[in-house]
Amino acid sequence: MKNTMLKSRRIDRTQWGGVLLSFFFAVQLPAAFAQTALPSVETLEKVAQEAYAKFKTDQSGKNADYIPALAKVSSNLFGITIVTREGKIINVGDVDYSFSIQSCSKVFTMCLVMQESGDKAIYEKVNVEPTGEAFNSIRAIEEGDGRADNPFVNPGAIATVSLVKAANAQERWDKIIGCYNQFAGEKLTVLDEIYKSEAATNYRNRGIAHILFNSGHLYAEPLECTDVYTKQCSVGVTCKQLAVMGATLANHGVNPITKERCLDSKYVPRVLSVMTMDGFYDGSGAWAWNAGLPAKTGVGGGVVAVVPGQMAIVGFAPPLDKLGNSVRAQEAIRFIAEQLDLNIFGSAR
Ligand code: GLN
Repeated sequence: MKNTMLKSRRIDRTQWGGVLLSFFFAVQLPAAFAQTALPSVETLEKVAQEAYAKFKTDQSGKNADYIPALAKVSSNLFGITIVTREGKIINVGDVDYSFSIQSCSKVFTMCLVMQESGDKAIYEKVNVEPTGEAFNSIRAIEEGDGRADNPFVNPGAIATVSLVKAANAQERWDKIIGCYNQFAGEKLTVLDEIYKSEAATNYRNRGIAHILFNSGHLYAEPLECTDVYTKQCSVGVTCKQLAVMGATLANHGVNPITKERCLDSKYVPRVLSVMTMDGFYDGSGAWAWNAGLPAKTGVGGGVVAVVPGQMAIVGFAPPLDKLGNSVRAQEAIRFIAEQLDLNIFGSAR
């Protein structure tokens, strides 16, 4: 009797596998998939409304005018959209206005190149270092090792376009817009007036492409790459469309609306690291300090911020600060991040 009892309590060697498996399913597996709880839709709605009301009347900053068509966009436009990893959408303000994506596009062409050729293609052929200079700096190329520094300054973005595997301009463009459509879960189109306006005035970018090509750091024909780059910057997006693109990164590469995988999850941290280091050009340090979120800006007035694993927050307002980043979009995102304690570096409270 004593013996059998003892025996039944003891775990036989053959049973250890089962014990470990139950431990794995009970403890380890849920831990691996544990996700930070999302704020409720009501909370997100309330904070977005507050941000809108607080910064709506801020008149500081000035529309970009080196692309003449951007100067004509109404400076009063102001929209905020949050899209969560569950595909919940919170909209406030002018969220239906289609503005040019501009440099926010650079994030998604980088994703395309990583998906096609691996992350090393970006790391080795473009580089990922902040420049501490303006987005169209030529000095930054000359001072570095000849590479374009990072995918978010114009030299790096044009070099990234040149890394898309394509036999000609049409194929290069089709791949880029195809990638953006997948991230947005919708068909996006080029804003023709913006494209024509920038294509007629983009001499500096054409110069940058030739400098890179000359030193062997542009990997396709310079004028073709500059033109496709100009087109990608002229893609029109609403706050919601850009926020779904950002939320796809927040959701580890899967579009939260269409459920389509757009990027291998292993590349997402790389993308977010570049957004953290380089997303605001020479304003990236202050942004990391103040908001603590990976984000990317564009001279069309858009800013897309990603809260990893949780959501994307987009702000749109055309007037820019001296570094070329939207004033009200920054204020709104920063306010929302503070209110909801979203800083990726830890609680700032
Ligand atoms: N298309 C713009 C340019 O090349 C993009 C710049 C930006 O958004 N910072 O100048």
